[in-house]
This record gives sequence, structure tokens and C-alpha cells, in this order.
Amino acid sequence: MNEKCAVVGIYGHKEASKLAYFSLHALQHRGQEAAGISSSDGLKLHTIKDRGLVMKVFDEHKLTTLSGASAIGHTRYSTAGDDSILDAQPVFARYDLGEMAIVHNGNLTNAEEVRNALIKKGAIFQTFMDTENLIHLIAKSEKEKLTDRIIDAVKKIEGAFSLVFLSRTKMFAMRDRFGFRPLSLGRLPNGGYIVASETCAFDLVSAEYIRDVEPGELLIFEEGKEPISIKVFEPTPKHCIFEYVYFARPDSKVFGQSVYQTRKNMGKELAHIQPVEADIVIPVPDGGVPAAIGYAQESGIPYELGIMRNHYIGRTFIEPTQEMRDLKVKMKLSPMTDIIKGKKVIVIDDSIVRGTTSRRIVKMLKEAGAAEVHMRISSPPTTDPCFYGVDTPNKDKLIAANMSVDEICKFIEADSLAYLDEAGLLRSVHAEDDKYCTACFTGKYIV
Ligand code: AMP
Repeated sequence: MNEKCAVVGIYGHKEASKLAYFSLHALQHRGQEAAGISSSDGLKLHTIKDRGLVMKVFDEHKLTTLSGASAIGHTRYSTAGDDSILDAQPVFARYDLGEMAIVHNGNLTNAEEVRNALIKKGAIFQTFMDTENLIHLIAKSEKEKLTDRIIDAVKKIEGAFSLVFLSRTKMFAMRDRFGFRPLSLGRLPNGGYIVASETCAFDLVSAEYIRDVEPGELLIFEEGKEPISIKVFEPTPKHCIFEYVYFARPDSKVFGQSVYQTRKNMGKELAHIQPVEADIVIPVPDGGVPAAIGYAQESGIPYELGIMRNHYIGRTFIEPTQEMRDLKVKMKLSPMTDIIKGKKVIVIDDSIVRGTTSRRIVKMLKEAGAAEVHMRISSPPTTDPCFYGVDTPNKDKLIAANMSVDEICKFIEADSLAYLDEAGLLRSVHAEDDKYCTACFTGKYIV
């Protein structure tokens, strides 16, 4: 089960659902399969969700039916084979305290255990989503108040969760004790509040960044009050380093740092430890752009755009079959022959997962007349799958788990291939301490 996504919550704004819509639009890169918004008018929750991009799911009329001064929203990342509309979020439920909706970014690692225990006690599930566990745990909790029930419920789940809950009158934001996935808090221009996976959503709605929701913290939003903070878990930060490598948008600040700057640092570190003589440095768009700029600046080799990206095609990763992925890579990227012909080219990408993209790119650059193609990757080899909310395939499909760097170089048919190392990656994100999860590069899992 994979739930990697974007979440947003708006509290205290008369056009809450519209702001949620714009925020989701800014967060579209975190999930393209489905989108949804629930709003509350104080008496009742309203929910619209469907498969497809944010712009396709909503229109002006639909947004006016999502009335009220609070709203939560979600974009869902695709998963192989699991495209039921039921798996779109928010997850909505009626229970003894009224109505509630939940959005979730992250993966629960004990989801199956919890679900099986609930089913044994007679619970009926409508979806395969781990998020549905939370609805049941909250509904079954014997505590009187919703706040206490949420605390009760999150103590029974493990893994990665950045959550936003909406009741008829309140909104809640919660992050797991490790803070695997990002979640930031901002102030809206009219005094209301916003929480969102990335701060690029704040910029679009002119919100001011206040701080991150702390790992293990529950924030409660109530009318006419400042958000109330409860420390549910002792924080032990293990932020997902892959947010910096690939997932987040470069104009966002996640875990308190500019994504663009960290990516540029990765490129500089890479140039430092993996130099190679060449005529130009080019990025694989868009992921490789900031690192390629950093590499070019550090090495003094000119930066050029050597590959154009067709923006009207989704991410290649989202297609479940290998055949479809190959086709999509071809549709998506094309070479700038005049720039490349006869040149020794350093091409920078953020990561190699299965090797499909790199192999295709090297072939494309050679066909366009490149004299040499040197592939440089601004993160370490991706050797292990993620269980905390990034969609990486099983280990047998991860090329770096099954081949040495030399073998991968041969497979992608590059003249040379080199990666950033773990130390360089940690320096790039200024990780003096142990506060990042690097499991996808090291296999060191925390939970
Ligand atoms: P692959 O072709 O399977 O080797 O995938 C590598 C490409 O996918 C690189 O260009 C990355 O920027 C991109 N990528 C890496 N991780 C992910 C992810 N979790 N979801 C979507 N794309 C990714």
C-alpha cells in the first residue's frame, strides 16, 4: 500500500475551499492520481473527490458547494493497480460525535496489524487505505472529546503520518514523532491559518510561513483562538532526505530549508567529489536542474539546456507497467541537437531508480551526436525501498540494489557514471546531527 501525497488545511477563511483548491494546485507534483477537498460550514461537512488532476476534479460550481470557513484537501500519488475512487481522499465518516474527514501523507507501517485487529472486532472497511484505520480508531475510542480520541488513535499507529483532520467546528494537524513527511504552518492574510505539505502552497495564497508543525505535535484550530499545541510524542526527527533530493518543489522550504539551495549544494558537492572533463553540463529536466546549476558553478564548466521537456505529460514514474514507462520517457524528453552535437556532455539527474530514464537519455544524447556522455547523480545509489511514503519499487526493481555502479554504467551505456556519496548528501542539507532518514540509500530503517 502506498500513500504519498500532499495535504492542506485552511482554517478561518470565508473562501476556505477555494484556498484549499489553489494550494492543491501548487502541490500537484506530489500526486496526480486523485484530488479531493472536504469543507465544513459549521453544521455539516461537504466532500468532493475524484480521480485526475486538481484542475480536472474541481470547477467554480463545485467549489461553491464546498461552503464554509474551513477545508482540508489532498492530492494522491498513483500506485500500481490501485486506482479505485474509494482510495481518493479526504476519507469521510459519520460517527457518534458527528462528522469527520481526514487527509494523510505518509505510510503506516503497522497498518495491516491494526486493520486485522479491527476487522476481528467487526469493523467493515471500504478501502485498502491505511488512513481508514484512523477513522475506526477514532470512532471506537472511549474518550469523550475528539482531541483525546485523536491522541488515542495516533498512539496506536506507527510509521509516517502528516495528517489533517476536519470536524464540524475544528481542524487538527498532526505529525508523527519522526517528522518523516513535511508539514508547515502559515498565517493567511486575513488572520486565518493554513497547514500544507510544502510552503509553495503558502506563496500562492499569500500566506506567511510561521513554522513547521513539530514532529509528534498535534495542533488544534478553534474559532477565535490561536492554534493550541499538544506534544503527543517526544520528537525524534528523522526527516525524509528524499524530499530534498527529488520530491519537493524547489521553491518550497521543507524541514526549515530551501529545497533549491540544498539541491544546488548537492550539485556542488558532486562536482567536487566526482569531477570529469567536459564541454557542457546539462540537467535532466526538471529534477536535475538545481543540481546541474550547482555542478556547473563549482566546476566552471558551462551550463546549457540540452534536453527539452514536454510539460503536458505527467511524471514517467506514475505508469505501472514497464512498457508504458518506456513510451512515456520518449514522449517527455527530447534533445537539443545543436547544443549537444560533438560535445563532451555531463548530464545531471537527481536519482536513478530502475534505470529506465538514464538509459534512454544516454541513448538520446548519443543519437544527437554527443562525443561523450558522463552521467552524474546528485544523490547516492537508491538501494532500498521506502516504507514511509515515497513510491519506490521493490528491491528487485531497484537497479542499484542489483548492480554495481560499473554494471549500471554499462547498462545505461554511458562513458562514465558517478553518484554523490552519503557524506556529501548530508553536507548538502546541513545535517550536522542524525535528523534525517536516509533508508532509501542506506537500508537503515527507523521503524
Ligand atoms: P528510473 O527511470 O526508474 O530510473 O527513474 C529515475 C527518474 O525518476 C529520475 O529522473 C528521477 O528524477 C525520477 N524519480 C525518482 N524518484 C521518483 C519517485 N519516487 N517518483 C517519481 N519519480 C521519481
